[in-house]
Amino acid sequence: MRWIYHRGAEDFSVMSDLPKALRKRLSERARLSRLELIAEEESRDGTRKFLFGLSDGGAIESVLIPDEDRLTLCVSTQVGCAMGCRFCLTARGGFARDLTAAEIVDQVLQVRRLLPSSKRITNVVLMGMGEPLANYQEVVKAIEVMEDDLGLGLSARRITLSTVGLLPELERLFADGVRCRLAISLNASDQETRQRLMPISRKYPLEQLLDVCRRLPLPPRERITFEYVLIAGVNSSPEDARRLASILKGIRCKVNLIPLNEAPEIPFRSPSREEILEFQRILIEAGYTALIRESRGADISAACGQLRGKVIRGERRP
Ligand code: SAH
Repeated sequence: MRWIYHRGAEDFSVMSDLPKALRKRLSERARLSRLELIAEEESRDGTRKFLFGLSDGGAIESVLIPDEDRLTLCVSTQVGCAMGCRFCLTARGGFARDLTAAEIVDQVLQVRRLLPSSKRITNVVLMGMGEPLANYQEVVKAIEVMEDDLGLGLSARRITLSTVGLLPELERLFADGVRCRLAISLNASDQETRQRLMPISRKYPLEQLLDVCRRLPLPPRERITFEYVLIAGVNSSPEDARRLASILKGIRCKVNLIPLNEAPEIPFRSPSREEILEFQRILIEAGYTALIRESRGADISAACGQLRGKVIRGERRP
């Protein structure tokens, strides 16, 4: 593990302190593969987006986001996504397959190789392409490797799993004792709107999701992050904000407001600045921590799935 995760070895033959016979046996039984970088874009604000090719021809994205003293890598957990959220570009392309734990962790290893030695990835968010809890086993294995001292040695507080809220898997995460931060994509304050935006809400209604959130045995001082993509005329009115404040009562949480990243394929618009600020003000006055997550990397097709979309349409040659 040290050779692979600490020193980035890409071949068993270089592992000079392992007996020769063991190295030979390892290379007969296992393969050290790596993701192939096929495109990269860097934004004026420092956000870097990577498109990685997989051995079967698929492609996934990872995004590196510098923020004050943090350097956060957003990784994908599936090729495509089956959740079908109406405002999401990844959903448009449909679902191809789950990533393996190796492919999830390798996004961190490959981006790390591209950084100067003075820079370290401090946080990982499982917030890229795919629904992490729909790929439960491989995602949990990847988190374990990221947290292991012999792996990437990241603390549980620096890894965030973002989910639409697959309830059985959400509860299983706690039953299995998996340690990481939790972000839940809420995106609406009432069932009707939520199921219009997120088809999964038909299977797991908002009320059940909130019940499970209330019951989750969060560690002391830990809070759930609710993500809320703001969409003009759909979920961003002052009434929505007040309803959100009311349904979140009793849940230890904070709210991340994400103005919609617009794209030609998406039939929605982002609200005005004033409407976004008013939404935030209502939540704050109701006693919540509510941050506006500014759109980063707008000049480099940074919204979910955009770089991959471009390459597939052939506008950009890797
Ligand atoms: N499937 C997981 C993780 C991937 S999506 C989840 O849903 O949480 C990561 C976040 O991006 C989610 O909060 C989702 O609501 C948000 N998102 C998707 N499309 C977006 C868009 N066009 N603009 C802004 N945020 C978007």
